[in-house]
Amino acid sequence: MMAATLIDGKASAAALRARLTIDVAAFAATHGRTPGLATLLIGDDAGSQVYVGAKQRACAEVGISGFDHRLAADTPRAAVVGLLDELNADPDVSGILCQLPVPAQLNGAELTNRIAADKDVDGLTVASAGRLALGLPGLRPCTPTGVILLLAAQGVHLKGAEAVVIGRSNLFGKPMGQLLLAANATVTICHSRTADLAAICRRADVLVAAVGVPNLIQGDWIKPGAVVIDGGMNRLDSGLTGDVDFAAASEVAGAITPVPGGVGPMTIACLLRNTLQAAERVLAG
Ligand code: NAP
Repeated sequence: MMAATLIDGKASAAALRARLTIDVAAFAATHGRTPGLATLLIGDDAGSQVYVGAKQRACAEVGISGFDHRLAADTPRAAVVGLLDELNADPDVSGILCQLPVPAQLNGAELTNRIAADKDVDGLTVASAGRLALGLPGLRPCTPTGVILLLAAQGVHLKGAEAVVIGRSNLFGKPMGQLLLAANATVTICHSRTADLAAICRRADVLVAAVGVPNLIQGDWIKPGAVVIDGGMNRLDSGLTGDVDFAAASEVAGAITPVPGGVGPMTIACLLRNTLQAAERVLAG
């Protein structure tokens, strides 16, 4: 029997995109230009092609200009760096993302860090991570931002809440912990070497899974009434599966995200939101 409220990420993402469509049109009317997102895809990785295609389509849907740069897998470093520098200097480009992974002769971290911090819509440069760590304004990574927006839409009070994040990647777990901390939760970040993960999870008023291990989090790890956010996207033969044993956890939790249809749809919507924010910040000086 399911006790938990289902947190509908698809509906929240659709609402966010609808609002962004209005805000992008207002930006264009006020400033006589549209925000623009440049994507850089090097090589022919099939998964990356799908992701970049989805990001460009999502831009078009809300009225953001798309600059879809595709380079051959053997493109030399100097040419990629040259293009990134051009995009950094181009006033029509508000945001830039370099789709990872990049081919072996290139260094993904180096290319990511070449992106100007004010155009870093993935929030993955050293400068953006530093701004987040210091509590300075800046562009934040999309997936943890999406989680914060889902919690807000659900009316979850983070101030003083005990939040537990499982995972400490630079992309998800670490910035997730920092965003929860900025929202005045008391945050614990767990990882593969954490002792007694189950006991720590049982303390959580808000539990965020950012692991990549299907069904790791058991029903009896959940505090009754807790809010459970499952960021896991594990591709199994049976389909897309989260990090949380959904059937068991939803009997105990107060609210829970499904997989698919929870955190996933928010990520691209937050990329669009970051692109508009980047455009606005440039004009605000
Ligand atoms: P990652 O870089 O592989 O990081 C996984 C983290 O989980 C690491 O910190 C690792 O600990 C920890 N971990 C692994 N096994 C564990 C265990 N048994 N117990 C406790 N902690 C464990 O992965 P990621 O990029 O952060 O992604 C995490 C999940 O989120 C994946 O399923 C990914 O597909 C999903 N994701 C979804 C979106 C989206 O758009 N919805 C975006 C990004 C990621 P160590 O640091 O000790 O190794």
